[in-house]
Amino acid sequence: MDFHNRIDQLEVRISGISISPGVAFGHLHLIDPNLPASREVRNVDSTAVQHEVSKLERAVEEVRNSIAGHVREYHTAAGRDFEEIIATHLLILDDREFFAAINDRIRTDHITAERALYEAFSKTAGEVAEADDPYLRARAEDLRDICQNIRLVLIHGPRALTVSKEDMTNRVIFSINLYPSDVLRARRNKAAAFVSSSRASTSHGAILLRASAMPAVGGIELPDRPLDEETPVLVDADRGEIVLWPTSETIQRAHDRSPVPDNIDPAKTLPPADAQTNGGVHVELWANIDNPSQISLCFHHRLRGIGLFRTEFMALEHGQIPDESVQYQIYLDAIKSLGERPLVIRTFDIGADKVVVGLDECTGRNPALGVRGIRRHLMRCPEEFRTQIRAILRASVDAKVSILFPMVTHAGDIERAKAHIEHVASELDRDGIPFSQHVKLGAMVEIPSAAFGIENILEIVDFVSVGTNDLLQYFTASDRDNTAVIEYQQPETAGLFQFMGHIIERARAMGRERDVHVCGDLASDPEAAVTLVSLGFVSLSVNPAATPRIRHAIENMD
Ligand code: PEP
Ligand code: MG
Repeated sequence: MDFHNRIDQLEVRISGISISPGVAFGHLHLIDPNLPASREVRNVDSTAVQHEVSKLERAVEEVRNSIAGHVREYHTAAGRDFEEIIATHLLILDDREFFAAINDRIRTDHITAERALYEAFSKTAGEVAEADDPYLRARAEDLRDICQNIRLVLIHGPRALTVSKEDMTNRVIFSINLYPSDVLRARRNKAAAFVSSSRASTSHGAILLRASAMPAVGGIELPDRPLDEETPVLVDADRGEIVLWPTSETIQRAHDRSPVPDNIDPAKTLPPADAQTNGGVHVELWANIDNPSQISLCFHHRLRGIGLFRTEFMALEHGQIPDESVQYQIYLDAIKSLGERPLVIRTFDIGADKVVVGLDECTGRNPALGVRGIRRHLMRCPEEFRTQIRAILRASVDAKVSILFPMVTHAGDIERAKAHIEHVASELDRDGIPFSQHVKLGAMVEIPSAAFGIENILEIVDFVSVGTNDLLQYFTASDRDNTAVIEYQQPETAGLFQFMGHIIERARAMGRERDVHVCGDLASDPEAAVTLVSLGFVSLSVNPAATPRIRHAIENMD
């Protein structure tokens, strides 16, 4: 703590909002102050065309120079030969035709290098994926990997490729945005805390921060005066503020106020304990996780099992979709660590803000309303869907596993998804590969049309899970990542609880209320959880760290 050297600086206190509780002290680390819009077609001035072309050239060189380290770090688990992967990557980087086409597009149409790269990648990857030769088809993955790395350098600069090895301990990350990719980067590199200008507390970045128990404050504008990387910062997320150049007394006081974080003993296995209201209503409590490493929290907080495993974050974290064998191992390990406790695996909900660079993106002016979640799987990537289903079915033999589909619009989506599952099951059967025939199926209810069609949906699935984060976003037509419209995202004023009341009433009329779970973040808010239980919801899947407060709130209900 070299803040003593800064004793001449006066403290600067900046208020924001708490995104993830806790207190941390560290030194500032600014990321992406000028992050360009990555998903839109962005035109550049004719004078900047050469700059874009040179930027691309430099990025390609950066990727070439870091290739060995990258392949060692990201591909050794895939079981492919190290030298062969490097050779393939170099071949792609040397493909003059591919890069000449990108340069032409920049020069002719004056678009950013990043956008031109993305378009060229999509076109070529599409052609490669159609090829008859399975070897050639598999090269689409290498192309994706290369393009992703080039794009990372274009967006974040050369350090993007070495960042996974970066030590962020004792660093307070500051980013204007709250992108999941930045949060994952901070988490992977063990940052002390996260500060952002964004106030989007139901965004995926915010959810990840809470799930990682990383103190985080949003709504922060840094002062205009120059701040260097050594600026000491106290993040007091319990009060929703940060203090630049804090004194030792201020740091001490904040730490004294902050509760000591739970000491998680992964070996400690306590039986699950649901919550019971004073009136005798029994409420099941489950855990939301985005990484199997969080399973210990399920035991620690005596939760029933995993009610939502957001698998897309493993793709975001690795920058690519893990292949079948890697996925199989991940699901199997999760199942083994859970023992008797059930696991709900949500298929990749990629799109909108959860972008795996280089993957088939959810483009358009409103990516959250585009080809996201199950739509992406059904319309664009059926093979990726089948691979995930294969891995889940194979891993689930003798286990209590459910598959949950994200972004379901109506029963038709489920029928189509089921047809893929039947196809996968018949292939596994034909090839004599063991798989589970008892996996349950569920649908996320996070689009108003799915909520209105709840009877049709419940008739063809074993359960539904209400995703209040997206339901609120789509119900109020206000982007959960856009802080300009945050005032519309008040569940009370928006009438969301009333709407949810209809969902549970209609499920009750079918005798299916126990098959309706809530896994959105509202269930992790004690006050909202009480309202949900009073409406008749009896199964909540929550951020594990919130369990004590949720249990306490429910147990004190009449
Ligand atoms: C939700 O929308 O409430 C949900 C649980 O899914 P996610 O937050 O991952 O979009
Ligand atoms: Mg959702």
